[in-house]
Amino acid sequence: MSTALTPVLDRIDQDLPQALVRLSELLRIPSISTDPAHKADVAQAADWLVNDLNTLGFDARKDATPGHPMVVAKGGAEAGPHLLFYGHYDVQPVDPLDLWHSDPFTPQIEDTPNGKVIRARGASDDKGQLMTFIEACRAWLAVHGTLPVKLTFCLEGEEESGSPSLVPYLKANAEALKADIALICDTGLFDAQTPGITTMLRGLMGDEVIIHGPARDLHSGAFGGAAMNPARVLARVLAGLHDDQGRVTLPGFYDDVPEISDDLRAQWEGLGFDAEAFLGSVGLNLPAGEAGRSALEMIWSRPTCEINGMISGYTGTGFKTVLPARASAKVSFRLVGQQDPHKIRAAFRDYVTAQIPADCRVEFIAHGASPASVMETGHPAFEAARQALSDEWPKPAAFVGAGGSIPIAGYFKTILGMDSMLIGFAKDDDQIHSPNEKYDLDSFHRGIRSWARIIDAVSKA
Ligand SMILES: [Zn+2]
Repeated sequence: MSTALTPVLDRIDQDLPQALVRLSELLRIPSISTDPAHKADVAQAADWLVNDLNTLGFDARKDATPGHPMVVAKGGAEAGPHLLFYGHYDVQPVDPLDLWHSDPFTPQIEDTPNGKVIRARGASDDKGQLMTFIEACRAWLAVHGTLPVKLTFCLEGEEESGSPSLVPYLKANAEALKADIALICDTGLFDAQTPGITTMLRGLMGDEVIIHGPARDLHSGAFGGAAMNPARVLARVLAGLHDDQGRVTLPGFYDDVPEISDDLRAQWEGLGFDAEAFLGSVGLNLPAGEAGRSALEMIWSRPTCEINGMISGYTGTGFKTVLPARASAKVSFRLVGQQDPHKIRAAFRDYVTAQIPADCRVEFIAHGASPASVMETGHPAFEAARQALSDEWPKPAAFVGAGGSIPIAGYFKTILGMDSMLIGFAKDDDQIHSPNEKYDLDSFHRGIRSWARIIDAVSKA
């Protein structure tokens, strides 16, 4: 451990009660971004952050957008690695209010069987998380008067309402925001003892297919046998999307899907992921993806095709001998590596179209297309941060994947041209977006210490 770091960690330990007071102040501001009635509260939370960052010596300001403001700040070292930190200060609505055990905007420190927690809307998502980073900076500055890295903050006030202003803002301010690497604190621990750095996020392509057959719904006694049934066509099409090894059959589907490295495989095996418990928690038992792949690979590093909805014929109570005029399905693909969502969409449509009988016609509706985000973990900051996290937590940190997408990481890559390290300390039971949201004091305390270590490690990487 570096001699510069030790007093910073000590300072964090001593200052924890005051850090909780500051977090509570921010949590008391009901910055619900989706509700116009709270517009002034969102602005107040932004002001609170601007003031706090200015107090720390950063050059902070509130930038107007068509929606809620962006808090930006610059400071730290003149030279050295330049980090961009992202978090969001808006929160989800609190209803149903009657399910809260205490007021959502009156933070409480509570004892629970798993340790102390701070309970309030935003305690975990994302005010508690973003304050872990600000507190780490505060401790560095208190002890050394400066930071060993150059720092830019970008704190959003619209994350919980779809980030409508984010992309235009990033585009308009790309030069000012560009850094060597981004830090995003809006994710969770792998488990209570194991931190992760999310380095791969799957992309998504959605398509709706509508197969039209007869001009109207028919009586299956009068027409059944003679008339083509679009539900039958759809069933055949959907059934053919996977082979009996669980692989997707579209030609070229796996062309741009990389294998993970041996090192990453070893990290994942070291996580001791319990696939049975994972599936057991939803009443299942058997991994249903590609044969020969671990459950973690299936959700982190392998692409999938899922049928999200099927609609055709009579689906009400009782029975109706109908031969439907149309049949439709919503199908989505989670994408990895360099898979191109537009290429996959074209392959899917070609595959479907080739199976439509001459008597039927097919129509498609596109529902979004975003590629996977894969970070260049060869950048030395990644390994430095992984080591720093491993020094703080009981179990070693791993580079992990995320089955779903976190759009901000993709925007930083495509608009600002930089990789992101997604590091967070939330736990699965934090009840984010739900009543009684909480953040473990252990997450908060170790989270601050983790960032202090990461700042130190990255400054030398
Ligand atoms: Zn969040």
